Amino acid sequence: RTVYAQETIDSVCPFCGVGCLTSVSVKDGKIVKVDGRNGPANENRLCVKGRFGFDYVSNPERLTVPLIRRADAPKDPNFALTFENRFEVFREASWDEALERAAGGLKAAHDRKGGAGIAGFGSAKGSNEEAYLFQKLIRQGFGTNNVDHCTRLCHASSVAALMEGIGSGAVTAPFTAAEDADCMIVIGARPEQNHPVAATYIKQAAKKGTKLIVMDPRGQGLMRHADYGLKFKPGTDVAMLNAILNVIVTERLYDEQYIAAHVDGFEALKVKIAAFTPEAMEPVCGIDAETLRQVARLYATSAKSIIFWGMGVSQHVHGTDNVRCLIAMALTTGQIGRPGTGLHPLRGQNNVQGASDAGLIPMVFPDYRSVENPDIRAEFEDAWGRTLDPVRGLTVVEIMNDILADGIEAMYIMGENPAMSDPDQTHARKALATLKHLVVQDIFLTETAWHADVILPASAHAEKLGTYTNTNRQVQIGRPAVSLPGEAREDWRIIVDLAARLGLAWAYDGVPDVYEEMRGHMTSLDNISWERLENEGSVTYPAEAFDKPGSEILFGQSFPTADGRARIVPTDLVPPDEVPDADFPMVLTTGRMLEHWHTGAMTRRATVLDAIEPEPVVSMNPHDIKRQGFDIGQQVTVETRRGTITLTLRADRDVSEGMLFVPFCFFEAPANFLTNPQLDPFGKIPEFKFCAARIRSA
Ligand code: SF4
Repeated sequence: RTVYAQETIDSVCPFCGVGCLTSVSVKDGKIVKVDGRNGPANENRLCVKGRFGFDYVSNPERLTVPLIRRADAPKDPNFALTFENRFEVFREASWDEALERAAGGLKAAHDRKGGAGIAGFGSAKGSNEEAYLFQKLIRQGFGTNNVDHCTRLCHASSVAALMEGIGSGAVTAPFTAAEDADCMIVIGARPEQNHPVAATYIKQAAKKGTKLIVMDPRGQGLMRHADYGLKFKPGTDVAMLNAILNVIVTERLYDEQYIAAHVDGFEALKVKIAAFTPEAMEPVCGIDAETLRQVARLYATSAKSIIFWGMGVSQHVHGTDNVRCLIAMALTTGQIGRPGTGLHPLRGQNNVQGASDAGLIPMVFPDYRSVENPDIRAEFEDAWGRTLDPVRGLTVVEIMNDILADGIEAMYIMGENPAMSDPDQTHARKALATLKHLVVQDIFLTETAWHADVILPASAHAEKLGTYTNTNRQVQIGRPAVSLPGEAREDWRIIVDLAARLGLAWAYDGVPDVYEEMRGHMTSLDNISWERLENEGSVTYPAEAFDKPGSEILFGQSFPTADGRARIVPTDLVPPDEVPDADFPMVLTTGRMLEHWHTGAMTRRATVLDAIEPEPVVSMNPHDIKRQGFDIGQQVTVETRRGTITLTLRADRDVSEGMLFVPFCFFEAPANFLTNPQLDPFGKIPEFKFCAARIRSA
């Protein structure tokens, strides 16, 4: 194990998909400071998480020794394990014993049920190399495509619509393209909280005169900088966007030449959106018809318009339809493929783009190549020396359902926390507790680790080498700054160690070796060698040549579809799965907050961040608070048909009347005990952004 003696180490932020480059200062083996570097996505900037969220790495609750469940410790989904009481359930073990036990349980399930008995969740917080190795282990080791990660819970619907419409799931332009735009739409995203450095580019552009349209059922700070702030009714995205498309068509604001040259499906769109007049949609979406017309004209007639969106768009049962509408707007108006134009789903986790690119999803091998295509499968069968599963695997929520239907018996989970992030936690935790064998590889005793049979102590971002791909398609190197604690190991090494116990003949000299093997299966990484990354620090894919910068703007001339043309897919109104009624009269929506990252495993253990936001809160409009007789700061119970949690009531004018907002980072009151597991049929993403709820004094 190497101890790095440098005082500052060049790395990349471990939190959001912006991918800010950092300088990590180390003293006496501990990180003491993180500064921004001049990266292409941050130009020296950092947000509060990147700057102050580092001391989780040295938190005393880090896992340092492998743990094995005691024979007399039954799996109780309701048992609240803590770091202090962990030895009531687990005992310490050597790596040899833990790896043997981990591999043995997985093999036993495979012997009983074949690939159908196994599933794996990799991590969007791990590196590209870890993602690649993880999906390879599941596919090669067990002959199943049951491998997924949290992209299923964030932008799976965006990727489904983008693949269908333009043949690629990645962004067509970086968020820094805001600087070149004349008009920006930000819909269902709160970049000030969730992509704070990206928000600075959007705000700067707005300040310089770029028109800004913000669409969000909750108000947000970005609306202060906006020319139009559309607080539409939750769950009515398609009504609002189809009304905008109706104006684009009826007022002939579309680009006839562009459509003729590049786009199919326009005639079908014209027919479909005829009924979606702004006047007809005004009462549905809550935005007046004249505003819808003005927004449509501004977007369509600006010389360069770009659309950014987030999980407010994607996390619905109609998430794919929402994105289809955004794609249709860009394609009908030709607002794509030029500087200052395009489609940009703001990626959440630091490596959700890279993990998806590396094949950590059940439908595709690396580079989004279908597991169902025999020619593609043959390439991987040759490389990996076994027959591979010809059928797409199950997705995150489907895996939980399958466990409870006596299907999957064993899982390997690396760096993900489904016991906090999956919808309907009662169901999800029951599924985890039902597994005959669960291997968890993580840095903390997460809520998921409570249910494990074997826990493998892993590496924090600051302790390992690897590449990460941000929301802008920039591949960047994260470097180790401090040593691993105790007997913890780098994640890629653990996967390789486990592969050896499973009988797989893997041999890697190090992370660069893994990167180069992965690159051999990914034309998207052509001309981006490890050496080039070492020299340049950050390279955008695709790159045409070794000595040329990568392409920031994609699809100027053609699309990566079979015939090179893009496709509009018209959409209908699909209501939310569960609408408010007399018993549950409020709309509950969930999400993140500036100071905490996802399920809070890291940021709740970062001293500064947890001091700023230390307790679970539900936000409610002040008028609702007054009308319903609550006091700000009191304890309240929020309830849905799936569960109940108790938290502190916070007044927030940005939350519309009739709505509640609960962040999902607090283990004391997990928001996902409340959420609806109903899935979008295409992206298989759950409806985190809308369900019926009620609130009462605790
Ligand atoms: Fe890290 Fe994202 Fe903040 Fe940048 S914007 S410092 S990548 S959390």
